[in-house]
Amino acid sequence: MRRKLKLLFLAIIAVFLVVHILKEPKTTIPKSIQDEVEIALGHFSELEGIPIAFKFKKNIKKSVMQAQPTWSGLLKPRSKRSYVILISEKFKISGAEFKTVDVPRDVLIGWIGHELGHVMDYQERGNLNLIGFGIRYVLLKEFVKKAERAADSFAVSRGMSEYILKTKRFILNHSEIDDVYKARIKQYYLSPDEIMEMVEHQDSIRDNNLL
Ligand SMILES: [Zn+2]
Repeated sequence: MRRKLKLLFLAIIAVFLVVHILKEPKTTIPKSIQDEVEIALGHFSELEGIPIAFKFKKNIKKSVMQAQPTWSGLLKPRSKRSYVILISEKFKISGAEFKTVDVPRDVLIGWIGHELGHVMDYQERGNLNLIGFGIRYVLLKEFVKKAERAADSFAVSRGMSEYILKTKRFILNHSEIDDVYKARIKQYYLSPDEIMEMVEHQDSIRDNNLL
């Protein structure tokens, strides 16, 4: 009897997995942030046709948003990959909860742009490399710094510097925002000055090409 139950259980899991893998992933965006997501997506023509599900989550540890490849996508060739961008419904300001959808529009667009920067970075990696990415991200602080800077850089290079700067300033200038989160932003991400430098550098490259 127990053996039968075990087999039934395994069969249910197998069916669930097959259905999950065969299901065609789609880009889904919650209505409340549709405009902001579309503006951010508009900067990344390379991501056209790649399914990204934007999903609200009650609470995300240590961050406000999180971009991840889907497991089923990791079993397929790179061109068939799909992603999930999780968005925390709220984050903490001096103990009080703050709704993510209430932050200024441009700040939210910058935040989403940064996550799309992660997706760009993921798209350049093979499946095994991407699994290694997840492991290194958890284990190595230096790696987190590299990954976060790559995401910011992608967004800046796609013309999102104004948004990214607004997001950064919003976090750093809000004295009420959780100090732990602020310290994390300072440690791992591009600083506003570095972003300005990048923009100037890009402008000078562009100007030189025009000459
Ligand atoms: Zn990030």
